[in-house]
Amino acid sequence: PPAGRAACHPVTTGRFAPSPTGRLHLGNLRTALVAWLFARSEGGSFLVRMEDLDRVPASEDHEADQLADLAALGLDWDGEVVRQSERFDLYEAAIARLDAAGLTYPCYCTRREIREAASAPHDGPVPDGAYPGTCRGLTPRERAEREAAGRPPALRLRADVGPVTVDDVLLGEFSAVVDDVVLRRNDGVPAYNLAVVVDDAAQGVDQVVRGDDLASSTPRQAHLADLLGLPRPTWAHVPLVLGPSGQRLAKRDGAVTLPELAALGVSALDVLRILAVSLRLALPGEPVRAADLVDRFEPVLLPTVPWVLDPGSGRSVT
Ligand code: GLU
Repeated sequence: PPAGRAACHPVTTGRFAPSPTGRLHLGNLRTALVAWLFARSEGGSFLVRMEDLDRVPASEDHEADQLADLAALGLDWDGEVVRQSERFDLYEAAIARLDAAGLTYPCYCTRREIREAASAPHDGPVPDGAYPGTCRGLTPRERAEREAAGRPPALRLRADVGPVTVDDVLLGEFSAVVDDVVLRRNDGVPAYNLAVVVDDAAQGVDQVVRGDDLASSTPRQAHLADLLGLPRPTWAHVPLVLGPSGQRLAKRDGAVTLPELAALGVSALDVLRILAVSLRLALPGEPVRAADLVDRFEPVLLPTVPWVLDPGSGRSVT
């Protein structure tokens, strides 16, 4: 840490929290690099957390590959990698607190019912994709009927809040109406929005850097943190990487993972350099390594528009 900062109390703790369900692609790698740079440039710690609440067969578990990909780019992390699948007790303790405060209710809706209810006319505005509150006012009898029909309920938060405003280092201030988010899914698994809030606080994470596809979830997470009496982290949502079609980068866009690119003769170090150029931290052809970027990193210089890969990413990135 820079002079004057106690080594045992970093000013910042950042993290990268991938879901280990596939190989990391250029978009994930770029977000990881930005998250690492945010933390390291402030002399902070950097953690990796595997968001593995959706269990996948061992053959599809990419945790080891993802960690190897981060290391290949020159990114390091502090301490053990944490797995959400091993932390259900923490999430249940948070749910119990919300429950004790009368802030939860069981929801028996299917996805389809939610879609239909959300598109039907009703009082007041329901934001896109928001839960319209169908099960919020069920009588005990109506609940019993649904239980008897064998529908396993999800557990929702009684949000009771208007728009919640958050401040983002890259996007500025924005607000959204917080709906009755799911806390525990109807398969018994804690929901992402709850787990992420509990984990970031439990791990002392005060700097959340992630793809801007999650920006819209941030007011919900801020509200949950507030209700649980947990500190809000700062947020920086990084614009996504788009494929040539203008859509979010995906498999169809050709060589987008380190092994795919390596097969075309593009090394991990080449990828790091391409990402650095895309972040305006290096000039094309400049022989930088990840560690060289730490001192150059300036959040205000980051591009605030998506990075669009050229057609045939194998060629375009070389
Ligand atoms: N696990 C999420 C993802 O891979 C990221 C969650 C977060 O960074 O808050 O998209």
